[in-house]
Amino acid sequence: MDILPLRIRYPSLVTDAPTDQLIVTIDGPAGSGKSTLARQLAKLLGVDFLDTGAMYRGLAAKAIERGIDIVEEPYYVVELARNCPLHFDWANDPPRLYVRDTDMTDRLRDMDVSNAVSDVAKLGGVRQVLVENQRRIGREHPRLVTEGRDQGSVVFPAAQVKFYLDANPAVRAQRRADQLKQMGKPANVEAIRRNILERDHKDAARADGPLICPDDATRIDTSAMTLDEVLDELHRHVKEKAKVGV
Ligand code: C5P
Repeated sequence: MDILPLRIRYPSLVTDAPTDQLIVTIDGPAGSGKSTLARQLAKLLGVDFLDTGAMYRGLAAKAIERGIDIVEEPYYVVELARNCPLHFDWANDPPRLYVRDTDMTDRLRDMDVSNAVSDVAKLGGVRQVLVENQRRIGREHPRLVTEGRDQGSVVFPAAQVKFYLDANPAVRAQRRADQLKQMGKPANVEAIRRNILERDHKDAARADGPLICPDDATRIDTSAMTLDEVLDELHRHVKEKAKVGV
């Protein structure tokens, strides 16, 4: 009897890739509904959910806590990214974000962090570390809905299903304000609108991993749609396109 392991007997037939892998990417500007929808879609599909904006925000919050001047001292921010590992506690829903051993989750949406985060995210050295971290998460959680700015274009270019969500700035600002109010945080719609437009500009203009709609993504303008309507549409597309059972 042939006692060699299967992978040695038939090397071309056996790969290490999980057969039921399903990566769904959702990219788009701030307030387009990505986070809420990605989380709900992941629940509907019974897969994990990754909020990559939380990683950039966590690092920005840590840099502020350390008193780093993000614009004047970018090298310290890159050092921080290299030396302060980020990880999620997947036992929580949504997963909580730790920077080294500190739970930063409750700081992520604060206005000072929102104002600083795009200056952190434009640093090539920071993106290198976080993109690698996100790809590792993709290997460890091969059934994943992941949202951000560069998930379909840079981090998971081979994802089975890609979306790009957009909405007009006034709608996006109002949504973000409602989200903050629900969390019991202060929300000035005009300040949020300015912050969103500034981040849009910085995120789209940077050289490394800019905000773009990948050619193979389905683009949806969510301005006049309810969350449930968008969720139905996303779910329908995934069922149509996914190469695995969902
Ligand atoms: O999605 P969210 O608004 O939480 O993202 C915060 C910021 O993090 C974005 O404005 C962007 O500067 C940065 N980001 C990024 N790449 C990602 C996710 C977020 O540059 N994949």
